[in-house]
Amino acid sequence: HFEGERLDDDLALAVARIMAHADGARRLRVRTNADTPEDAARARRFGAQGIGLCRTEHMFLGERRELVEKLIVAEDEDGVEAALAALLPLQKQDFTEILEAMDGLPVTIRLLDPPLHEFLPDLTDLSVEVALAEERGEDSEHAQHQKALLSHVRRLHETNPMLGLRGVRLGIQIPGLFRMQGRAIAEAAADRMAVHGAPRPEIMVPLVASVRELEIVRAVLEQQIAEVEEERGIKLEIAIGTMIELPRAAFLADRIARDADFFSFGTNDLTQMGWGFSRDDVESAFFSRYFEHGIFDVSPFESLDQRGVGGMVEMGTAKGRETKPDLKVGVCGEHGGDPRSVHFFDDIGLNYVSCSPFRVPVARLEAGRSVLGKR
Ligand code: PEP
Ligand code: MG
Repeated sequence: HFEGERLDDDLALAVARIMAHADGARRLRVRTNADTPEDAARARRFGAQGIGLCRTEHMFLGERRELVEKLIVAEDEDGVEAALAALLPLQKQDFTEILEAMDGLPVTIRLLDPPLHEFLPDLTDLSVEVALAEERGEDSEHAQHQKALLSHVRRLHETNPMLGLRGVRLGIQIPGLFRMQGRAIAEAAADRMAVHGAPRPEIMVPLVASVRELEIVRAVLEQQIAEVEEERGIKLEIAIGTMIELPRAAFLADRIARDADFFSFGTNDLTQMGWGFSRDDVESAFFSRYFEHGIFDVSPFESLDQRGVGGMVEMGTAKGRETKPDLKVGVCGEHGGDPRSVHFFDDIGLNYVSCSPFRVPVARLEAGRSVLGKR
C-alpha cells in the first residue's frame, strides 16, 4: 500500500515480491531523513530501518523560530541561559516523540545547523525602527535596547551565511547550545528506556572541519550523558559521530575518526563546497551552459558527481576505516535516494544511505539491484 492509495491486489503482491527480493539481497541499510514523528512513521511504512538525519533546526521553524533568535541575539549570559531554559523542555519533548515513533531503531539526531540569517531579526526592519526612533529623539529603554540589538545583529550579519556561523561553529560560539541539546537527548533516551527498553539515539555533529572542533563538542556531550546516567542510575548507549561534508574533513578523516563513533557524508554541502557552487542557486544561468557543453548531464546536486565529490566520499571512508576498521559510514545528503548514487555508495562499501521518506522504497530497490546486478 502506498500513501492513501490502495494498489490493485495483483500489483501490490508483485511490488511486495520485488521489494522482498531486493531486501533479501541488499547489503546497504536504508534509513530516512525525518524531523517529525509523522515523517518517521511514514518512512517506517516505506521500510526505513532508522533515521539517518533528524535536522533539529527544522524543529524551530514557524512559531518557535523566535526562541532560537532570542538565543542567537542574547547579549549576556543571563539572556543565553533564559533562552536555553525555554528550549530544553521543547527539545526533550521532540526527541521523546521521535524515539517513540522509531521504537528502538537508530535515530541520528543532528545538532543545530541553521543558516544563521534565517534566525536573525530582519536587519532592514530593525534599522528603520532605530532610525525613526532617533529622528523622533526617543530615548526610552525600548529604543536603547533596539539600538544595542541593531549593532549586535550587524556584527552577526554575514555576506555568505552558508560559509559562516553554522553547525559546529555555532556550538562553539554558544557552548550552552550543544550542552542543552545533549542533555535533552540523554534525558529523552533515559525516559524512554524506563518505559520501553533500548532507544538508540545517535548524536551527529554538523559541519566539522577540524579534529579539535569534534573533540570540544564530544567532551560537552559526554559530560551531559554521564550526568544523566548518574542522576538516573542507568547506562545509556548513545553514539557520537560526525558529518563529513567539508573537503577538509574528508582529507582529515583518519584523524577525525578517532573522536567519531560513525561518519555520515553530507553530500549536499560536500557538492557545494567541492565544486564551489551555491546549492541555493542551482537555477543560476551558467548551469544551463554547463549542460549544453556536457560538463555535466545531470546536476551534481541531484546525482552524485562520482569522480570528484564521490572520490572524497570514497577517500574519507577509507581513511576513517584506517583508524577504525569497523567504522559505520552512511550518507544523508539528497543523493542517498538517487538510484545511480545508491549503486555507487554500495560499491564503495558504505553501511547505509538515508533519504526522504518517499524515496526509501527506491533506495531499497536500487540497493538490491546493485548486488543482484553483479551476480
Ligand atoms: C548535507 O549537507 O548533505 C546535509 C545532509 O545537510 P544539510 O542538507 O542539512 O546541509
Ligand atoms: Mg549539510
